[in-house]
Amino acid sequence: MRIDLHSHSTVSDGTDRPEVVVAYARACGVDVLALTEHDVAAWLDPAAERGWRASLEAARTNQVTLVPGTEISCHWWDRGVRRSAHLLGLMFREGEALREVLGTVLHSRSTRMETMVRRIVADRGEVITLAEVMAVARKAAESDRAEPVGDPVLGRPHLAKALAENGLCTYEEAFGDAWLGSGGRYYVRKASVPLEEAVGLVRESGGVTVLAHPARRGYLVPESVIRRLADAGLDGIEANHPWHDDADRSRLTQLAQECGLLVTGGSDYHGAFKAEDVGDRLTHPEVYFSLVALAADRGGLAPVPPGE
Ligand code: AMP
Ligand code: ZN
Ligand code: FE
Ligand code: FE
Repeated sequence: MRIDLHSHSTVSDGTDRPEVVVAYARACGVDVLALTEHDVAAWLDPAAERGWRASLEAARTNQVTLVPGTEISCHWWDRGVRRSAHLLGLMFREGEALREVLGTVLHSRSTRMETMVRRIVADRGEVITLAEVMAVARKAAESDRAEPVGDPVLGRPHLAKALAENGLCTYEEAFGDAWLGSGGRYYVRKASVPLEEAVGLVRESGGVTVLAHPARRGYLVPESVIRRLADAGLDGIEANHPWHDDADRSRLTQLAQECGLLVTGGSDYHGAFKAEDVGDRLTHPEVYFSLVALAADRGGLAPVPPGE
């Protein structure tokens, strides 16, 4: 049984439509897939809802079990400096508190995109427009569809692609300090949720939480903060992520054991935006069943088997 608990589609900043990601999961021999779009849930946004329905249909055809989830933009404080971190919330139910918090982050993703474009234009002239960024985000989602699918969750990858298409830099260079890297010339922060608050909200909504890629530069979470999160109810650490090397993985696995946390894996598939394939990193079946049992205990959602 091959289980990948981290992936993205055109609902957020992946380049494959959700039904394509699911069919591709089957082609890659993956039996269980969590779709974890950034800061959105099917019940929060019409485009995400349409995407989820399309992925359910594809899951039936391709015999894939789907785990509902979200990758939440979070932060922690490092001596007065706000640091970004990503938290995977899986199998949580619809709820007012989460709606408000995720809604704020989603809204700020749009306004910060406008600000980033405005800053580039102020500095360099009319080299890019917001319409071009929106076109990048919509293009993959809508190709050969009769009905519009709605606006994707906007992210820096969309702007990076638009900059590359306009010949201003390469896609990779766009994430450097000259452009959109954190601390970069045109980088604008978006709203985010304190890690401990996000852990609590997902738990209260019946779900489980996993700290995503905590050894990655830019999303690094130190051991002291992980220990605090474990006390606050965190369930797992995504030690097995393409951005982590063997040393990261063993250090995080050791820490998880000490803190009583589960160790998960996921590919963080983004289609053409990243090199990894679905299933390139996996979660052990025992860990997966523990997470499913935790969500069931908390009154959360169950994974959707292909028969339903
Ligand atoms: P945002 O959430 O809009 O701030 O954009 C963050 C997204 O950009 C993440 O999901 C990453 O997948 C992607 N990203 C961040 N840094 C890099 C990088 N150095 N190279 C490629 N993609 C990146
Ligand atoms: Zn992403
Ligand atoms: Fe992430
Ligand atoms: Fe991700």
